[in-house]
Amino acid sequence: MSQKCAIVTGAARGIGLATTDLFREEGWHVAMVDRDVEELRKVVAERDGVLGVERDVSNPQDVGAMVRETLDWAGRIDALVNNAGVAEFGPVQDCDFTTWRRVMETNLDGVFLCSQACTDALKETRGAIVNIASISGLRASTLRVAYGTSKAAVAHLTKQHAAELGEFGVRANCVAPGPVKTKLSMAVHSQAIIDAYHDAIPLNRYGSERELAEAIVFLASPRSSYVNGQVLAVDGGFESTGVGLP
Ligand code: NAD
Repeated sequence: MSQKCAIVTGAARGIGLATTDLFREEGWHVAMVDRDVEELRKVVAERDGVLGVERDVSNPQDVGAMVRETLDWAGRIDALVNNAGVAEFGPVQDCDFTTWRRVMETNLDGVFLCSQACTDALKETRGAIVNIASISGLRASTLRVAYGTSKAAVAHLTKQHAAELGEFGVRANCVAPGPVKTKLSMAVHSQAIIDAYHDAIPLNRYGSERELAEAIVFLASPRSSYVNGQVLAVDGGFESTGVGLP
């Protein structure tokens, strides 16, 4: 296949689905990875130039199969977008170990496993890794101890990969989204939280999936060929202000 190929994890909905569609608009093929088989089959059936990969990024066997299925289909991997994520919400004292591990397994172990498994293929194309962290990993906020910690670790993992893989022409960067109305965020954002974000964000609104996709595809593509090891907050200015949430 002469067209570029991206792997997007967590592609069945939200930011991952918008990223898939922007890649397709720019002529890429996309291996859409998700463990929600029902939602994935539905969106794959509606699109050309995509492969549905029904896998769990926190499972090493699944991740190996994800790479094999993608290479069998496209023959190459030019970009890996580590987007699959889960969140918890509640006081630190209520975050039991099962919850902590559930969040770490997808948000941190998944990024480590997928990046490691794709590295040889990315070296062949001199490709790119784009990790999706969160403003919750840049600034502490209440009620997200596992989520915020996992995302801070992802930002650091990005720098490790950038430092080690640069000599092979492989770049690694990170996008830290501010709030976006998706299934993940709307499960935990009350009206009070939505109002507080509107007040604290200089642009006074949530971001859209498409606005996140624009930053992700930029960092995945050769348009950002000299950008490496960066954590880009795409958050309407929230992180830069220091204005806290209640
Ligand atoms: P979403 O819930 O709409 O989509 C996440 C997708 O990931 C789902 O389709 C889900 O099935 C999939 N997924 C979860 N765990 C998986 C696993 N182990 N293996 C395979 N697939 C898995 O969420 P979203 O809001 O689009 O989030 C995308 C990314 O953006 C996440 O990493 C999230 O932490 C991050 N983020 C989101 C927001 C926000 O406000 N929505 C803010 C900051 C960061």
